[in-house]
Amino acid sequence: MEAEYFCRACGTPFQNRFPLDEEGRCALCRNGLRGFDAAYCYGVYGGVLRRLIHLFKYRKVRSLEGPLADYLLRTLPREVRFDAIVPVPLHWRRRWRRGFNQCELLAREVSRRTGIPVAKALRRPRASKAQAGLTLAARRHNVKTGSFSVAADVAGQSVLLVDDVLTTGSTAAACALALKRAGALRVSVITVARADRPWQMAPNSRAATGEGPAGYGQ
Ligand SMILES: [Zn+2]
Repeated sequence: MEAEYFCRACGTPFQNRFPLDEEGRCALCRNGLRGFDAAYCYGVYGGVLRRLIHLFKYRKVRSLEGPLADYLLRTLPREVRFDAIVPVPLHWRRRWRRGFNQCELLAREVSRRTGIPVAKALRRPRASKAQAGLTLAARRHNVKTGSFSVAADVAGQSVLLVDDVLTTGSTAAACALALKRAGALRVSVITVARADRPWQMAPNSRAATGEGPAGYGQ
């Protein structure tokens, strides 16, 4: 991804310096809530990329799974070993309504081309409110109360967590923390796009970004 700014601790790219503190850390790292060890993003959530993701996710243009997986593969570092690819799960109700989990389709496609197995290791045991539109404090609460459980053996593994869009990283952080609690050695997050939103604007930025009802990356 073409980015000017990266969190010094987790490597999450940002388009501007605003989300980083004086020491160059993002808010998740600053608050000890990151959970993941690295974040890889192909591009910025906007323009054509945003449109492709919307067509794939909301208009169900399934043939886009190949091209979007291409972006993930281009972003995947060759020097890091991964034992399992884990898609970020949707809540069952949302999955049922949409008919598929876009993260799972991307994970399967990346698996097919790399030979790294998919482990559907994460479950959402209870309805977690869509992260979009929540304040940072509410997101933090969601992370702390643990909206994910682990249903596969990930002990000692280097896990590649797949999501479509990384917004604040709080969903990825909650997944990563659950995987780490279950013994995962390393958790890296890979997403097609990174959506930058200044933290301070989070409560009302939903209208400003024009995001659909399902929210980012959910
Ligand atoms: Zn960070």
